[in-house]
Formats: sequence, structure tokens, C-alpha cells
Amino acid sequence: MTETKLQVLRSSSSGNCTAIWSGQEALFVDAGVPRRLLDEFIADNALKPRALLVTHAHADHLTNPAVNFFKDHSAPVYMGREDMVKAFCKYIPAIRKHRETVRIFSGPFSAGSYHIVPFELDHDSIGGCFGYNIRINGKTVVVATDLVNTPLDLVKHFKGADTVVFESNHDVEMLQLSGRPEYLKTRIREKGHLSNEKSASFLAGAIKNSPSSPKHIFLAHISHECNTHAKALSVHNNVLLPLCDGNTELHLTHRDRFSDIVVL
Ligand SMILES: [Zn+2]
Ligand SMILES: [Zn+2]
Repeated sequence: MTETKLQVLRSSSSGNCTAIWSGQEALFVDAGVPRRLLDEFIADNALKPRALLVTHAHADHLTNPAVNFFKDHSAPVYMGREDMVKAFCKYIPAIRKHRETVRIFSGPFSAGSYHIVPFELDHDSIGGCFGYNIRINGKTVVVATDLVNTPLDLVKHFKGADTVVFESNHDVEMLQLSGRPEYLKTRIREKGHLSNEKSASFLAGAIKNSPSSPKHIFLAHISHECNTHAKALSVHNNVLLPLCDGNTELHLTHRDRFSDIVVL
């Protein structure tokens, strides 16, 4: 059976991109990265881009050169709402120019062998923000970043997940003590992102609700100024490892380099 792999190419407030591939067919979630990085990634792994799933209309999740990359490979760019497309049109000319590349979903859909169930996240972006439950070759990946709340019914999208990419944005104290203006601190806390503690507590609930714990958990969208990799990892280790059946590995993601590659 063909192996399915996942790697987070970038994850931070300066750029986000996750790749999942099975055989030659690669699916991407977000492409807030330079085109060179996508070109090199597919060349190094001998892949063909199948589609891009965009989470929301913030500049760290999609770039103009990335839209041209997917257009040149005839790979559709999926978004959740027309409002999201309009918001991107303001600063991504390639979307205005190649509107036919963008497809709007209105529920679960397929892209090649990938079956995708989008779900809404609470985040302050025009046109909504979406997480994705992605099924491929009998394996399930869930990607969810950029969310401020974890309503009770969110856990259902994580049930049976083999690999989870989830936001662990900030350390509460580091955010408070940071030199950021008050309005920005309030925006992050109340409309933007999850702290390490809230992230770990949600994932604990998701694991308890699932028949087995995920094999891999990636901690994503870690703030450069208001968090450290060590803090994010230690909070999750303390909360999650006692709940897992010994088969779960925690992985970090980075603003300037690729994560580990995992086999689902
Ligand atoms: Zn973001
Ligand atoms: Zn955002």
C-alpha cells in the first residue's frame, strides 16, 4: 500500500504551509510561502500538486507567487466563501487574474484521492476560517490553526485522526509581558489565537473522545515573540502524554525550516 506522508513546510505568523502526499499526488493546506520553496519541495520529492486548501484570508496563509504556482500546475485552490476570495483579491492580483483557479466548497468534497471535510473555526478573518479533516488511503489528517475558541462540537472533527496539526500560539505570560500594543494583545487573546494551555486542554478532550490517540501531533503557528518551542512542548507533554497510549509523538513546526516528515 502507498505510504502517505506529511510535512509542515512553514508555520508561524510569517508564513504557513503543510504538505500531505501519497505516491506523487500532493495536497497542500495554506501556501503563505515563497514560490521557490514550493518549487523545490515538489522537485525534491518528485511530486505533482493536486490542490491547495486555503484556511482563511490572512497574508500569512497565501501569497501571490503561490497562487501562480498552483495555476501553473492546473491545481485548484479551494476556499470556503466568496467573501474570502474578495478579501484576497485586494492584495493578491493572481486571484483577480486567474479567478477560474479558485473553487468555493459548500460542504465535503474530493480532490483526486483526497476526501476533505471542512469545518469552521472562530478567528477574526473576513470570509471565515476553516479547519480540514482530510482522508487519504484509509488515514485521517486534521489541520486546524488560527482559532480563538474551541466550542464543544469541535472535537468531533478530530475523532480517529492519525495525525493532527494544531495551533499552540502563545504563552499567556509572554504575551502579557511583550512590548506589543494593548489592542494587539487583546486581539490575539479575544479574536485571534489559542494559548499553549488552551491548545493542550482541547487536544486532551479530543483524545479522550477518540477510540485511539493520534500517532503524530504537530504544534503549529507558534509565536516567535510570545512563545518558545520549549514552553509549547512542555505544556503539551505534561497534559497529553499521560492520556496517550504510548504511540503518540509530538512534533514542532518552524518559521524558517521544514518540520519532521512523518508517515501516517
Ligand atoms: Zn495565521
Ligand atoms: Zn489568521
